[in-house]
Amino acid sequence: RTVLRELTDIMIKKPDIPISETLPVPDPSMFHKRYLKKMRVLGEGHFGKVTLYLYDPNNDGTGERVAVKALKQENGQVPDGWTKEIEILKSLYHSNIVKYKGCCYELGGQVVQLIMEYLPLGSLREYLLKRKLGVPHCLMFAQQICQGMHYLHTQRYIHRDLAARNVLVENETLVKIGDFGLTKYIPEGEIYYRVREDGDSPVFWYAIECLKESKFSFSSDIWSFGVTLYEILTHCDTRQSPPTKFSEMMEATQGQMTVMVLIKLLEKQRRLPCPKDCPLEVKPIMEQCWAADPTTRPTFDALIKKFEVIRQ
Ligand code: ADP
Ligand code: MG
Repeated sequence: RTVLRELTDIMIKKPDIPISETLPVPDPSMFHKRYLKKMRVLGEGHFGKVTLYLYDPNNDGTGERVAVKALKQENGQVPDGWTKEIEILKSLYHSNIVKYKGCCYELGGQVVQLIMEYLPLGSLREYLLKRKLGVPHCLMFAQQICQGMHYLHTQRYIHRDLAARNVLVENETLVKIGDFGLTKYIPEGEIYYRVREDGDSPVFWYAIECLKESKFSFSSDIWSFGVTLYEILTHCDTRQSPPTKFSEMMEATQGQMTVMVLIKLLEKQRRLPCPKDCPLEVKPIMEQCWAADPTTRPTFDALIKKFEVIRQ
């Protein structure tokens, strides 16, 4: 308090001194490399690597644990998509979306790392592989994913990479959507985004129109949600995974381009099988998510209501 009084006195006596010079306001979203203590690697996807660090400015072990995402290949400039991923996450506030904490800059801004909250139980995929959840528990998580996705859509973003590997587990009763690396903004009045770059894509989670025409929309996220729901109900068992199951269906057609064969299968109305534990009321939900006509698929809002009724 005395410091504040002295400061006020100085300000009164010398009002020309700008506040920022007398009292530098620390930016809580600015993380300094020197205070980040590496603990362990949390995971790696196509584009990024996520590591657990202790952010410990006091250097006494009292700091907080944070998840730090860095791009895999860093060569000189910060890629456009990476800056966008950070900006998007920064703008999102929802209990089912991973929280942005800040950034860490290195080499005069040539390298930027994204700092997010650390979710101790890791990805939903790893979590489901470790413990077998009962159906009610699965449906609770499914509903939470819908809630996070509904919010994302109200912000006019499409996720484009919804899958169990990109959902994170905070505790036994809370999941959050993570990884906004492929997220795109859909301007008002438009209904889809068309991809130009033909990179590594999670094809087995993609809606038929994404594969055929690279058209991504709010309804194509619904299709991916259907695949994610399938993953949850099969406990992410690799023997039943979407790539495994679709590859089994493709068997006899070796040599052809996977995507072409996948399109043909989907056009013949072939879909992933109904998981063994899938409740009767949930089967039609999955089928609606995988409707060939995107306009007939449900919205996340409608899905939340359906899950509320099923779970009552
Ligand atoms: P990529 O864009 O490369 O796919 P992700 O953001 O999906 O990267 O992260 C890769 C993996 O790292 C995830 O599947 C998960 O296992 C782990 N991970 C990511 N973020 C967190 C976090 N905030 N807390 C705990 N684990 C995380
Ligand atoms: Mg990922």
